Amino acid sequence: MNEDISIDMERAVTAIRDCLNDTQGVIGLSEPYFNGNEWRYVQECLNSGWVSSAGKFVDRFEADLAAYTGAGYAVATVNGTAALHIALQVAGVKPGDEVLAPTLSFVATTNAIAYCCAIPHFVDSEWRSLGVNPEVLRDYLSRIGTPQGDTLINRHSGRPIRALVVMHTLGHPVDLDPVVALCEEFGISLVEDAAEALGSQYRGHHVGHAGQLGILSFNGNKIVTTGGGGAILTDDEELARQAKHLSTTAKLSHPWRFDHDRVGYNYRLPNINAALGCAQLEQLPAFVTAKRQLADRYRAAFNSIDTVSFVEEPDYGRSNYWLHAIRLHDYAQRDLWLEHFHSSGIQVRPIWTLQNELPMFRDTPAMPLPVAKQIEQSLITLPSSVGLVINDA
Ligand SMILES: *Cc1c(COP(=O)(O)O)cnc(C)c1O
Repeated sequence: MNEDISIDMERAVTAIRDCLNDTQGVIGLSEPYFNGNEWRYVQECLNSGWVSSAGKFVDRFEADLAAYTGAGYAVATVNGTAALHIALQVAGVKPGDEVLAPTLSFVATTNAIAYCCAIPHFVDSEWRSLGVNPEVLRDYLSRIGTPQGDTLINRHSGRPIRALVVMHTLGHPVDLDPVVALCEEFGISLVEDAAEALGSQYRGHHVGHAGQLGILSFNGNKIVTTGGGGAILTDDEELARQAKHLSTTAKLSHPWRFDHDRVGYNYRLPNINAALGCAQLEQLPAFVTAKRQLADRYRAAFNSIDTVSFVEEPDYGRSNYWLHAIRLHDYAQRDLWLEHFHSSGIQVRPIWTLQNELPMFRDTPAMPLPVAKQIEQSLITLPSSVGLVINDA
C-alpha cells in the first residue's frame, strides 16, 4: 500500500475520534437519541389504552409535522416505504407507467415504484448535491420523451413517464426550483423522497412539499425516530384526503359499518409510535444544531487531509447533515479505507449499491449514469449520531 495513504488513513481515524471527543470504544454510524418526553408520552399512551391506529398522539404528530415542515398536511404511516407506495399512487402512478428515480438511493425508493407495478427509469446524480441533476435530466427527457396529449411517452418503450422521484441524499437538498419547472414543462408528477431530510431546507423552505407529495421516514437510523414510521407531506387537501383514505384500508367513515370503496392498505402509524415521535419532534431543532456542529468539526478536521474531502451542503440550501460523509480522491482505495476504519472501531459505511446494479432492477430503463457511479465509488459515510456531540453542544 502507498505510504501516504496509510498515513492519511491513520490521521482520518484520529480526526474522527477527536471530533467526537471519543478516543476509545466502537463508534456507531447513526444511533437514536432519547432525552426528552419519550417515556412520559409512551406511558400516557399506554394508560389511555389507545395504542393502535387511532389516538391523540397520531393526530398531534401529524399536526406537529405539518407545522414544522410548513406543509399543508401530513399523513403518518407505518414506515417511509409505505408512505412512498401511497404517495406514488396518489400522484397518479399506474401499472405499466415509468417512474424516473435516482439510481443512487436506498432500495425503498425503487421498491415502492415496483409495488405500484410501475417500471423504475433510473436517472443520474449531480456531483455536488448527490441528487438529481435537473439540467442533464431535462436534456435527456427532450431526447427520449414525446408528448401525447397531456402525457409524456418514452419513445423507446412506448410507456407513459408519469412521475419523477427525487431524493435528498444524506439530507442535502436537490436543486428544487429547476426540478419543479422541469416537471411542469413535461407534465409529470413530482414526489420528493425526503426520508433522510427532515430539518433540511431549500432556499428557506423545508423540503418535502415542493411537488405534489413528499415523504419522510422515522426509522431508527433517521434524525428522529418512532421505532418505525413515516409520513406523507402535501400542500393539496384532496391529495392528503386520498393518502389518508388509502393508508387506512379505504374505509368509509361510519360509526359501525365496514364499507371500503377500493383496495386500501393497513399503513396507519400506531398511536404508540406516534407518542415516541411527538417527543422526538420536540428535540428536532436541537438535533439539527448538533448535526451541523458535527459537520463544522468534520470539515475542519478533514481540511488538512489531502486525499479526502468532506461532503458539503449545496450553497442554495441548508442540510440537516443526517449522515456526514467524505469523498476519497482515489476511488480504487475505498475498500482499504473501509477496512481500516472498521478495524479501528469506527462504523463507517459505503453508500448504497446503485439500483440499476441490483438483480431485480438490472433490465429496467436508465439514462447514462456516470456521476452516480463516481459518487458510489468514492463516498464513505461517517459516524453521525446526535448523541456523539449533543452533550457538549
Ligand atoms: C430510510 C429511507 C426510506 C424509507 O425507509 P423506511 O425504513 O421504510 O422508513 C426511503 N428512502 C430513503 C432514501 C431512505 O433513506
